[in-house]
Amino acid sequence: MSQWEHLHAWSPSHGGKRVRDLAHQTFGADASGLVASAPGRVNLIGEHTDYNGGLALPIALPHRTYAWVRARTDGRIRCISAQADHLEEVDLHQLTAHDGSGALTSWAAYVAGVPWAAYHSGVLSELQGADIAIDSCVPFGAGLSSSAALECAVAVAIGQLAGHPARDDEQRGRWAQVCVRAENEVAGAPTGGLDQAASLRCQAGHALALDCRSGATQQLPFDLAAHDLTLMVVDTRAEHSLVDGQYASRRADCTQAAALLGVPLLADIPIEQLAAALDDLASHPHLGARVRHVVTEIARTREFIALLGAGDALSRDLDRLGALMYASHASLRDDYQVSCRELDLVVDTARELHLPGARMTGGGFGGSAIALVPAVQAGEFAAAVSAAFTAADLRSPHLYRVEPGAPADVETT
Ligand code: ADP
Ligand code: MG
Repeated sequence: MSQWEHLHAWSPSHGGKRVRDLAHQTFGADASGLVASAPGRVNLIGEHTDYNGGLALPIALPHRTYAWVRARTDGRIRCISAQADHLEEVDLHQLTAHDGSGALTSWAAYVAGVPWAAYHSGVLSELQGADIAIDSCVPFGAGLSSSAALECAVAVAIGQLAGHPARDDEQRGRWAQVCVRAENEVAGAPTGGLDQAASLRCQAGHALALDCRSGATQQLPFDLAAHDLTLMVVDTRAEHSLVDGQYASRRADCTQAAALLGVPLLADIPIEQLAAALDDLASHPHLGARVRHVVTEIARTREFIALLGAGDALSRDLDRLGALMYASHASLRDDYQVSCRELDLVVDTARELHLPGARMTGGGFGGSAIALVPAVQAGEFAAAVSAAFTAADLRSPHLYRVEPGAPADVETT
C-alpha cells in the first residue's frame, strides 16, 4: 500500500451509509431523513485575498462531510457527530450572535449557525429545527476547511427540506453567504468567504476562479491526470487555529491599511499603484508588507487564472504556474508572515526535487501545503517529505493525492 492510500476519501455510498447508521443509532432505527454532503477545499493560489475583495482559485476536495438531516417543527437542533463526543442540543430561538449571551462555543455552532443565519438573512422564513447526524473524512483543523464542509452539508440539506434548495449557482452563492454568517457570527471565526464558496460552487474536474468582491465565478478545467500530473496535499499536522487571534490580526492590519490608503478594500489598489501605496505607508512598514502581499497575490492569481483560461496551461505554461505558486508561498512567509517551519519544509523539499510548484494553502500557522507533482514523482516526493520531517524531529505529516471534486449536494440515489 502506498503511503497515502489509507487516507483516500470515502465513496459517496460509504459516507452515506456511515451517517445513516449513526442517525439510526442516535435518533431511532426507523428514523428517515435526507443525506447531503459537502467537500473540503484546497486553494491553488490567492491566499488571504478573500476578505480583501480579491481573487482566489480553489478546488473542491474528494474528501467530504456527510450530514443526515430530519426536519423538526420546534425550532430545536439536536446534532451528533462521529468526530465529537456527545449529542448537542440548541434552541434556535435562544441562539444569539457570537458576542451575545446565547453564543455557542462547541462544534454545534457550525451546525446550528446555518439555520440561524438562513433565517436572519431572509433565505428561510422560519427557524428550521432539525435532527442532524454528521460524519466526515475531511481532515479536521488541517487548513482543508472541515468547518465549511460541515456548514455547507447542513446548508444544502436544510435548504432542500425547507423548499429552498441550493440548485443553481446564484442560489449556491446565497447559501455560501449564509454559511459565512454562521461561521463569523455564531462560531466566532472571522474567516472570509472563500471556503464556503469553494464547497458550494466548485465543480468536479475544475478549479473555481472566484472574485470575492462581486461573487462572480468562472469554471476552469483543471485535468491533472490528462497531463500526467497530480496535486499532493501535505497536512503538516502542526498546530493550527484560526480563532487564536492571528487571522483576526491580519484582517485588522488590512482594514487599517485600507483606511490609511483611502480605499474600501485592498483589492482596489492595482499592482501599478503598489509602489505609491508603499510610499504612503512608509511609516508603517509592517502594514506595507501586508499590502504588498495582498496586491501581488491578487496579481499572481489573475495571471494564473488567465493562463488556465487560455487552455492547455498544464503543459504549455506549467513552469510559470509553478513559479507563481512558489512566489505566493514566499510572499505569505515573508510579507504576510503566516507560514511556519513545517510548511516551509514541505515547500523547500518540493524545490529541492525541482517540482513544478508548491505553496502553503489555507490560513497558515500550520495546516497544509500543496505541491504540483509529475505523477511519476509522487512516491519520491512523499518519501522525501516524510524523511525531511523525521530529520527535523517533527511528527509525520499526512499526504493526500487529490483531484478536483464535486460541490455540496443532496444525495441522489
Ligand atoms: P478547518 O476548517 O481548516 O478544518 P477550523 O478550525 O476552521 O479548521 O474548523 C475546525 C472545527 O470545525 C472543529 O474544531 C470543529 O469545531 C468543527 N468541525 C469540523 N468538522 C466537524 C465534524 N465532522 N464534526 C464536528 N465538528 C466539526
Ligand atoms: Mg475552517
